[in-house]
Amino acid sequence: MELEYEEVRKAVFDTAETFIKRKVRPIASETDEREQFPLDNIREMGRLGLLGIPYPKEYGGLELDYATYTGFVKELAKACASTAMTVVAHTSLTCNPVNAFGTEEQKARYLQPMLSGEKIGAFALTEPGSGSDMSSMQTKAVEAEDHYVLDGSKIFVTNGNYADYYIVPAKTAPEKKLLGISVFLLEKGMEGLSTSGKKERKLGMRSSDTGELILDGVKVPKTCLIGRKNFGLDILHQTLVSARLGMAAIAVGIAEEAKQYCISYVKQRKQFDQYLYHFQSVKNMLADMEMNINAADLLLQKAARMKDNGEKYAKEASEAKLFASEVATQVTKDAIQLFGGYGYSRDLPLERFFRDAKLTEIGDGTSEIQRLIIADELIKRGSRSS
Ligand SMILES: Cc1cc2nc3c(=O)[nH]c(=O)nc-3n(C[C@H](O)[C@H](O)[C@H](O)COP(=O)(O)OP(=O)(O)OC[C@H]3O[C@@H](n4cnc5c(N)ncnc54)[C@H](O)[C@@H]3O)c2cc1C
Repeated sequence: MELEYEEVRKAVFDTAETFIKRKVRPIASETDEREQFPLDNIREMGRLGLLGIPYPKEYGGLELDYATYTGFVKELAKACASTAMTVVAHTSLTCNPVNAFGTEEQKARYLQPMLSGEKIGAFALTEPGSGSDMSSMQTKAVEAEDHYVLDGSKIFVTNGNYADYYIVPAKTAPEKKLLGISVFLLEKGMEGLSTSGKKERKLGMRSSDTGELILDGVKVPKTCLIGRKNFGLDILHQTLVSARLGMAAIAVGIAEEAKQYCISYVKQRKQFDQYLYHFQSVKNMLADMEMNINAADLLLQKAARMKDNGEKYAKEASEAKLFASEVATQVTKDAIQLFGGYGYSRDLPLERFFRDAKLTEIGDGTSEIQRLIIADELIKRGSRSS
């Protein structure tokens, strides 16, 4: 008998809770220290169905809403933000464009093995000279008879060294700038496609992998074009907007975890013959943490609900991502302060939370870019009377 929607949702959270407790949390500090990619855990999440939460059952997904997906990412990030980031790059940035814009053949061939965790996905947009400004993209795709030839390079590719499939945008009509971009799915092993072997050494998110792609005359069959030629901008826009919910969920998860550590600590640490929670400045810090995390979570839930309802949610996704990431950075910084010298020590995970939180202000569009998007959307939507 088929389980009801709510039962499946509950089963997902129960499964995730057990998995995170047994497999993710115990190794988070060690994999961070060793900068070790959590490959086994990614495969197991696929087997458990956790990589297919918002995708169709037809391709092995669970067909649940984005609120459930972001709820799962949040729980994962509490234990290990790097693992959550790996999942968001795979699920939001790679599976999403295939599901939303791919043909039935592409979904059967690529989406299915990614949802089951057999194959790992990566999204390769950023280039050495093109970050916030994707119109300066240099990677080109030249059309031939039954294929395209891609040349260029991509950097900061999350999962880059472990991925089997890459979403790769390239210019098919460079003179049209943003309106001349197409999106391709490249498979590991295609001739001319390689990783540079460089593994980015990062401040935080150290057990997530960040690599570089080299495209040297890669012959890509036309069947690997996602959506229509020169209509890549829309695909990239939709993909990045949905990924911002994932990044916001990571930020809320990190902040919530740091706050929990603080609550326990102020009830056990005494100075001047008093527990820390008796000091007014400590109470202020805790109150600000609680209020800001709740506000960030509400923005995230609102944006996820709008996506689930099929409404436009680009502004709300940017609001959630921007606010949650800045809250995560502030909360984790304050948490270190609250723990004093112990907070600065690598024996405790507070410093990892702080390092990991900073990435959420940069990945999937920096805070400055989110502010531009919010303001532009506001202006586009017009005044109160219009
Ligand atoms: C750990 C990690 C993982 C990543 N994973 C991926 C991935 O999987 N796939 C991928 O494609 N990319 C990935 N990125 C790249 C990331 O998306 C970019 O770093 C980010 O978009 C910023 O681009 P940039 O680094 O080139 O900075 P730039 O665009 O050069 O920006 C530099 C500074 O200028 C500011 N700035 C730029 N333009 C404006 C403007 N118009 N107004 C105001 N300020 C502006 C920026 O906010 C920033 O502060 C990752 C990055 C990191 C660090």
